[in-house]
Amino acid sequence: MARVYNFSAGPSMLPQAVLERARDELLDYGGSGQSVMEMSHRSSVYDAIIRDTEARLRRVLKIPDNYKVGFFQGGASTQFAMVPLNLMTTGEADYVVTGNFSKKAAEEAQKFGKVHIVASSKDRNFTYIPSDIHCTENASYLHICENNTIFGTRYPVLPDTGEVPLVADMSSCILSRPTDVSKYGLIYFGVQKNVAPAGMAVAVVREDLLGHAAPTVPTMLNYKTIIDADSMYNTPPCWCIYMMGLVLQYLEEEVGGLDEMERRNNEKAALLYDYLDSQSFFNNPVEKPFRSIMNVTFTSPSAELDKKFCKEAEQRGLVNLKGHRLVGGMRASIYNAMPIEGVRALIAFMREFEKENG
Ligand SMILES: *Cc1c(COP(=O)(O)O)cnc(C)c1O
Repeated sequence: MARVYNFSAGPSMLPQAVLERARDELLDYGGSGQSVMEMSHRSSVYDAIIRDTEARLRRVLKIPDNYKVGFFQGGASTQFAMVPLNLMTTGEADYVVTGNFSKKAAEEAQKFGKVHIVASSKDRNFTYIPSDIHCTENASYLHICENNTIFGTRYPVLPDTGEVPLVADMSSCILSRPTDVSKYGLIYFGVQKNVAPAGMAVAVVREDLLGHAAPTVPTMLNYKTIIDADSMYNTPPCWCIYMMGLVLQYLEEEVGGLDEMERRNNEKAALLYDYLDSQSFFNNPVEKPFRSIMNVTFTSPSAELDKKFCKEAEQRGLVNLKGHRLVGGMRASIYNAMPIEGVRALIAFMREFEKENG
């Protein structure tokens, strides 16, 4: 069996040990005689799985007791609507636009109230994160996208929002390093980048922000509905939650937690950025202080060479390196599950390609 190094922005690689464990348990989970894919979500076996998954997330992320956790269907994109529907109590909110997903989040929020774009990095094609971020007077919250998956930037420091709750889309950076959850009012993430197979988003919400949704908010879009029912209001994405539990167990027991995960991620990213900085054939457009450690963008001298690069890389088992259609070029997503050997193999190929085509 030949497994490739998959640099996709999402869905993306999962740790091989996790896939093997899922395979071993596929037909008979824990002596139950059933697959997790088949079992009732109301069974005691499944109840233990979902409780364990939430407990592990709380331990790994060090989530304080006054924050609630919920598992939601509809991906991160549904959270773009749920945030304003539940939190926009003043009818106004602040958004920082640093890429495509933050723009989409702001546009969705506009359907429900007044949105202030308090800062944007559009002027330099989203190659940096604005530093001068201030909340407007009447804002219910300030929304950021902490790691910009498409453009390859991240916030080096969080904006100071004072008493205004900070809401962050952390889809492409969650669990990549330690996070001080107490600095946020709400964190949400789609799981398919760093946590599990596709099919779910997780929200971590400070307790006092819950329970203020208007009565007209659909039941399933009210955070309180799902959270009050321990994510069992209706049938949850059972398999996805189970897989997330396995990934978290791997993070806790094999990796040893988020400090070590961050060390490994920094090491991988540094290898790639150091190489990019050492030559002039490939170019990384991002301003240095804002470089993401999860998504690394780069271009070759021409669109034709970009295409050739992706094609030849694929023949070497280095797949999904094509950049997002909005930016072109290449993007290597090097999430938690990308082994350092994958990054080394990519750099070795880049060196060769540079020599042959430079
Ligand atoms: C992938 C991604 C999304 C969209 O996620 P879906 O689950 O496909 O809706 C939103 N925000 C960020 C930062 C992402 O990386």
